[in-house]
Amino acid sequence: MEGVYLSPERNLIEIETAIQKIVSNKRDITGVDFEGPEVAIYSKNLDYLTDSDLIGKIARTIKKRVIIRSDPSIRLPYDEAKNHIHEMFKDIVNIGEIYFDDIIGEVIIHVDKPGMLIGKNREGLNQIIMATKWKPRILRIPPVHSDVIQSIRNVLLSDPKGRTEALKKIGKKIHRREIIRDKIVRITGLGGYKEVGRSSTLLTTGDANILIDCGVSVGNNAPSRMLPRFDLPEFEITNLDAVVISHAHLDHSGFLPYLFKYGYEGPIFTTVPTRDMMTMLQLDYLDIAEKEGKLLPYSKIDIRTSTLHIITLKWGEVTDIAPGVKLTLHNAGHIVGSSIIHLHIGNGKYNIAFAHDFKFSNSRMLDRAIHKFPRLETVVLESTYGNPEDVTPSRSQTENKIAELINNTLTRGGKVLIPVLAVGRAQELQLVLEHLITSERIPEVPIFLDGMIKEATAVTTNHPEFLSRAVKERILNQDDNPFLHPAFHAVNSREAREEVISGYECIILATSGMLIGGPSVHYFEGLAEDERNSLIFVSYQGKGTLGRKINEGLKQVTLKDSNNKTIALNVNMEVNRITGFTGHSDRKELIEYSKRLTPRPKNYLFIHGEASKCRTLAKHVSKIVKREASAPDIGAAIRLY
Ligand SMILES: [Zn+2]
Repeated sequence: MEGVYLSPERNLIEIETAIQKIVSNKRDITGVDFEGPEVAIYSKNLDYLTDSDLIGKIARTIKKRVIIRSDPSIRLPYDEAKNHIHEMFKDIVNIGEIYFDDIIGEVIIHVDKPGMLIGKNREGLNQIIMATKWKPRILRIPPVHSDVIQSIRNVLLSDPKGRTEALKKIGKKIHRREIIRDKIVRITGLGGYKEVGRSSTLLTTGDANILIDCGVSVGNNAPSRMLPRFDLPEFEITNLDAVVISHAHLDHSGFLPYLFKYGYEGPIFTTVPTRDMMTMLQLDYLDIAEKEGKLLPYSKIDIRTSTLHIITLKWGEVTDIAPGVKLTLHNAGHIVGSSIIHLHIGNGKYNIAFAHDFKFSNSRMLDRAIHKFPRLETVVLESTYGNPEDVTPSRSQTENKIAELINNTLTRGGKVLIPVLAVGRAQELQLVLEHLITSERIPEVPIFLDGMIKEATAVTTNHPEFLSRAVKERILNQDDNPFLHPAFHAVNSREAREEVISGYECIILATSGMLIGGPSVHYFEGLAEDERNSLIFVSYQGKGTLGRKINEGLKQVTLKDSNNKTIALNVNMEVNRITGFTGHSDRKELIEYSKRLTPRPKNYLFIHGEASKCRTLAKHVSKIVKREASAPDIGAAIRLY
């Protein structure tokens, strides 16, 4: 199977011939097709579906990921198959809806505890295959209802044909002929170089054009500053082979659906939690832009189309994404599902890792970022906190501080308002508060969650596999989900909000994090004048925001209330800021990471930070690690190999 193929079709024929040589009876194979990065083999022989040795042998021979599917003629009718599944597992898990995908022969089963059904060595899955002749796909019933998960599943389930067609096209693209063996690897910064926002990098190898992240700069209104520089001559949407997304924050994923509006039909590679979270944030971004009468760069239909083209990967899974390019995602420790992107180019000749937003220390929610790779020549690193004065206090200091502020407020009969970003910080705060309550360091008062936090938390709890070892262990093996602690209460109506404001001592987590709209402003309005209450900022406060002004000591505020009447408020509540809950590495951690990277790369590139931070960090790290380090400009093409 070595060598150059003439076309994807020819490639498929050769793959089929190779497979027929491996199996005992070649008539058992009834079809072979590309399915995204995988090769799907259809068979009437059920043994093939469960024989992991055979699957491994085929995969090694054709050098591709293999998936075996049942021939339509042997699959049981829906009702019979459903009955079998209920009979086998009704005492082990709660079974929700069951769907069938006729095209690829999958039965999609919703259960509360997927691990229990799957079993140790996948016995549960094999039992289903043998009994029903359908290949099972197990989806977790979200422990908390999530609208976004529901709608993504609906898109994928309601259009299996669209999804399969998309995957076939993607497969042909990925497995097409590789022409240039001695590749020149170049990257061009399209956004997020010497700045924060609109992160996007184009990587070209001669055979492949890959886009790493596709963000918007939410705070900027001028397109020339807000959007990635897709106007640069080396960028052409229709020439793109693959897009990889590091994490869901809009400055990394917010512009993605635009690609589909302008003709991109290729794959997006990311993790499942990133898929769910970025869809939620993109929908919210459109809603807000529409309400504010701003330019809408794409529509909901483009978000839907992009969903059909997403291929989700687990951490550590190696996948072909374009001719001569393999991708592996690794934990980045920033928000749920956030990944370091590792690309292995030209049979391993060149390896590059993109450590966009990452944290090199443990938080309650996530383990610290991965720093060991099989091979590595170039690393691209964020520099958000790259200045010498960017020092984050230790975790224990930070947790002690918030416990003290909460205790002081509650003792004097006050309420604590914590404005937070919906994705990331909010869930980390929930875990910190849950820990403080269960270890009896703060009293168990109600913790109210308001705004998009509820949805983001629902998505987070649905993906325990992507959380820290400690939290994963509690959720999966001890049936103890910290996000479901009885202290947490969702606030779902205006009346409920009023009750919280006029009620007893409590803690409130509400969006937005900078008091620029959203329920946090409403709570602020209701709580500001009572000196018993307190306001705790846990995230960066942007210039010009109400949060920034209050944090800087503003004592008199005029606001528009919910009836659009202008009101004046005296800020009598206590105001504090805690910096230690950040999802980014601070300067010390950035340097430590640069030093500990294994193997030590030849070349370090610093991006994603103010220009001065990228430059000082590059200079400093270069001295310490004795390697080349630089801070490239937007639009500069850098030849790596
Ligand atoms: Zn981020």
